[in-house]
Order: sequence, then C-alpha cells, then structure tokens
Amino acid sequence: MSDDCLFCRIARGDVPVLFVAENALAVAFRDIHPQAPVHVLVIPRAHVESMLEATDPAPMNAVMQLAIEVARAEGVAGSGFRLVLNTGADGGQSVSHLHAHVLGGRAMHWPPG
Ligand code: AMP
Repeated sequence: MSDDCLFCRIARGDVPVLFVAENALAVAFRDIHPQAPVHVLVIPRAHVESMLEATDPAPMNAVMQLAIEVARAEGVAGSGFRLVLNTGADGGQSVSHLHAHVLGGRAMHWPPG
C-alpha cells in the first residue's frame, strides 16, 4: 500500500468510489473517463506497479476472475468485450498501479492505436 498511489487509496476506501464488484484480492470500479458504454477498471487491492512486477499469481488471478465477473454482470460477456492492461510508457500506462480495463458495449477496433 502506498499513500501516494491513487488506486491504493481507492482500494482501501480513502477515496469514495463505488465498487461495482470486489473479491478478497481485487476491486472493480467505473473509469472516470469512459471510452466505451462499459468501462470498468479492475485492480488488485495490494500495490503492484504493473504486470512486470506481478510475481505473485494470486492477485493477477483475482483480477482476471473479477474482470470476467464484471463482464457478465455488465451484460457484455455474450456480445464480447476487451480486456486491456496498459503497461509502461509506450503501453499508455498513466497510473502506476496495475489495472485491467474491461471495455464493452460497442464494437472495438483493431489495431488499437
Ligand atoms: P491507464 O492509462 O491504462 O493507466 O489507465 C488509467 C485509467 O484510470 C484512465 O482510463 C483514467 O481515466 C482512470 N482514472 C484515473 N483516475 C481515476 C479515478 N479517480 N476514478 C476512476 N478512474 C480513474
């Protein structure tokens, strides 16, 4: 946990954000700047900077399980959705706490740009 990390503060409830789903190791909440009709972020409760630092598989498993649960609950599992883990500068990661974007509710484009 880090006092300076926004997503750590969200995960421990210091920043008032509605969790759309949660489990023992991860929480899910809506992105503040949604890029699709469904845009939910899923983060580990514990501070993990990015996938590169995710040496313990348990939080990653929890994030993946919760992302699937969110996709089902948001009604996009059938139509399809995109799971994005931006990593590092060229990957477009702007918050240094691992997060998976669950994007759905419209057709996604490829290449992502
Ligand atoms: P990334 O660019 O992959 O690091 O994604 C970070 C995401 O966090 C962006 O899509 C932001 O819109 C989102 N974000 C930043 N601050 C908040 C916040 N307070 N609540 C919800 N989403 C946020």
